[in-house]
Amino acid sequence: MTGEGFVFSEKPITIESGSGAILTADDGTEYLDFGASYACTPLGHSPPAVVDAISEQAEDLLYVQGSYPVAARTALQEQLAEVAPDDLSKVWLCNSGTEANEAALKFARSATGREKVVAAKRAFHGRTLGSLSLTWKDDYRDPFGPLPGGVEFVPYGNEEALKEAVDDETAAVFLEPIQGEGGVHPAGDAYLQTAREATADAGAALVLDEIQTGLGRTGTMWACQSAGVVPDILTAAKGVASGLPLGVTLCADWIAEDAGNHGSTFAGNPVVAAAASATLTQLQAEDVPQNAAAVGEYLRSALRAAVDGHDLPVREVRGQGLMVGIEVKRGSMRVLRDLAIEEQVLALPAGRSVVRLLPPLTIDEADADSVVDSLVEVLS
Ligand SMILES: *Cc1c(COP(=O)(O)O)cnc(C)c1O
Repeated sequence: MTGEGFVFSEKPITIESGSGAILTADDGTEYLDFGASYACTPLGHSPPAVVDAISEQAEDLLYVQGSYPVAARTALQEQLAEVAPDDLSKVWLCNSGTEANEAALKFARSATGREKVVAAKRAFHGRTLGSLSLTWKDDYRDPFGPLPGGVEFVPYGNEEALKEAVDDETAAVFLEPIQGEGGVHPAGDAYLQTAREATADAGAALVLDEIQTGLGRTGTMWACQSAGVVPDILTAAKGVASGLPLGVTLCADWIAEDAGNHGSTFAGNPVVAAAASATLTQLQAEDVPQNAAAVGEYLRSALRAAVDGHDLPVREVRGQGLMVGIEVKRGSMRVLRDLAIEEQVLALPAGRSVVRLLPPLTIDEADADSVVDSLVEVLS
């Protein structure tokens, strides 16, 4: 079995420690981490406040079954209900992004009593069978069929096609506000607003998968907020507990009322909950989303200026906040390899032609400049 060992299959880099945006390998080499391990470290690596919260909770209690309220879990649920977009005050916890979407799929079906689901071409919603049925790429799907049925894929960003696909048999529409894995493609506000209207008219649930776009990544706590759209269900994971396993499904009352029977042994584990609470507290106290907006804007304009100034083989620079896609005119894997080996900069692919940057949200303009310089070196 192989994972995404794109750089590492050729020249493995064994990471020993991390602090802020820096990862240190076992040979002492320091890497600037502009992938944030797939957006899992919004505050950088091992943020001290989160590490302290984990240690304190571990001393008190590692685990107790979910039927006993535990202070750490209850506090997190309250905090999540507070940072959630308006009306999404019902909080379901689990252990990963794909489980958060599984729950969303189950809840949407039980709340509506319907089966049909609409998802987008190029979408990525996870790899367990339910979420995989909403994920577009054949590579991920084909070996594992048959997948749960009833899913129709529509071209992402096409309002007419979406309106046509949603009817009174639709349980849910699943969308990423910006497709991450699919190549860093923003949906645009109008598309999300159309999705909101079409689902509301049909009595279907709008599910926004904010597993990658959430937690301040795009410049607001949730990407849907900048589009002025409140979904019926919002899923989060990745960075919510600074890299510890946590998935979150935020639901409107009408979904939660008829959510059916769903559960998970480790959901809301106290140590993970403590890590998430500390992460959310710091995100808000230091207005990290605002930093992501400002430095993201700076980074994208610096990238565009570098592309023009050096005539780099780049088709487009796009994104929002610190979710940035650079569409290159050569293989993205080669660029990523050179960035890592020659420039000690870690980034991510999004398909064959897009270099994806998802740095910690706490980076500054100097970090952005340094990565632009590295990209110029590698692409020139
Ligand atoms: C990563 C991701 C998932 C899956 O999360 P896992 O924790 O890997 O299961 C789902 N949706 C989006 C948008 C993601 O980026």
